[in-house]
Amino acid sequence: MLRICSLLVLVAWSAWAAPVDWIWSARYVITMNAQRRVIENGAVAIRGERIVAAGARSEIDRDYQAKQRLDRPEAIIAPGFINTHGHAPMVLLRGIADDLRLQEWLEKYIFPAEARNVTPDFVRWGTRLACLEMLLGGTTTFTDMYYFEDAIAETARECGMRGVLGETIIGFPSPDAKTPADALRFTEKFLARFHGDPLIVPAVAPHAIFTNSDETLRACRTLANRYSAPLLIHLSETRTENDDSLKKRKMTPTAALNALGVLTGWTVAAHGVWLTDADMQILKTRDTGLAHNPSSNMKLASGIAPVVKILSLGIAMGLGTDGVAGSNNDHDMMEEIDLAAKLQKVATGDPQALPAPQAFAMATILGARALHMDKLIGSLEKDKRADILTVSLSSAHAVPMYNVYSQLAYALKGSDVTDVMVNGRPIVRDRRMLTLDARPIMAKAAEYQERIKKSLR
Ligand SMILES: [Zn+2]
Repeated sequence: MLRICSLLVLVAWSAWAAPVDWIWSARYVITMNAQRRVIENGAVAIRGERIVAAGARSEIDRDYQAKQRLDRPEAIIAPGFINTHGHAPMVLLRGIADDLRLQEWLEKYIFPAEARNVTPDFVRWGTRLACLEMLLGGTTTFTDMYYFEDAIAETARECGMRGVLGETIIGFPSPDAKTPADALRFTEKFLARFHGDPLIVPAVAPHAIFTNSDETLRACRTLANRYSAPLLIHLSETRTENDDSLKKRKMTPTAALNALGVLTGWTVAAHGVWLTDADMQILKTRDTGLAHNPSSNMKLASGIAPVVKILSLGIAMGLGTDGVAGSNNDHDMMEEIDLAAKLQKVATGDPQALPAPQAFAMATILGARALHMDKLIGSLEKDKRADILTVSLSSAHAVPMYNVYSQLAYALKGSDVTDVMVNGRPIVRDRRMLTLDARPIMAKAAEYQERIKKSLR
């Protein structure tokens, strides 16, 4: 009798519980929704590419019936990290030369190494390595400006990773474009090819104001607006860039871009280290998103971006790793969270500056806002894309835990990330990438290291 009753209950429940593809549960679910809800013993239900619900595990288990599930009682579930600025394939030049002045580093190492080695094959294997590293560290979206960007987009798709990607447009010959006009033609084809892709947001990426003519910059904006695409650009990274602009144009780089009309539309600018108050007002009015790159700014001695001020004005600023060739030597977003929070304390002399929850927001929902993609990603909420990670709480440096945000910002590491899902598809499980075999990627990285070393002799 008891058996019949339980069977009836089960039948009634399965008829009532809504079917979903996945339920992920953990000790804590960090939603990053508007109320910044943290759910103890929480779960997330996923159907197709979307989140159906995030809530208490008991409620999710009652309301949904999953085809598959992942239960991590000693872990945190959080939105996947959003890297708002980088140059993925440069990872093959990781640590090629460090602790040098920017000009020497560029002229002696980076430019010759790139001129002799950057081919579609280099870009493909470099992106595979970068995606492997980023995904294992919990990054689900990356922003990129490099060369042969079509190979980067194909590789991101192959890995199942989300990308905001743009071919670098620069005023001197690059590995795949003799002139900026060539790069613009490449970009237009790229925009047409990847328009509407579920994972790739194709972008227009002029390198910076000081490496492009006004005419090219204006053409970039026109092209981006024609395709409703974002424009990615470096902005006010160094003091020299600002000083030169003031000398040449009697305006800061931000004011000059604004005067040229380049900020009229969807824009994501990297760095913003030397922004003036007037610059910040322009960026706020134009709704320009910003990418803060603490590792890069520290390592190249570029300065400290006024992050606290920028965020207090309501400008969206996310975090980025920048290129992993020397301006940063890894793609670890958890390290950027930690450094961003501490750097603002150093800069302001105030230990309350950029507290842990806000620094964590920069890597998730604020990063999504900076990319103008917060309707799709950045938090765990109904109807958003299922870009999710789990972070283990089992290691020695994870206990005890009094505050979940402080643990995430200051104690846990990228290597604690255990599982990753992008667009509803599991990509990392138990710290192993499911979409690509890591072994040939590691072997190719070693092969390229030898080849690049020889090319510099
Ligand atoms: Zn950069």
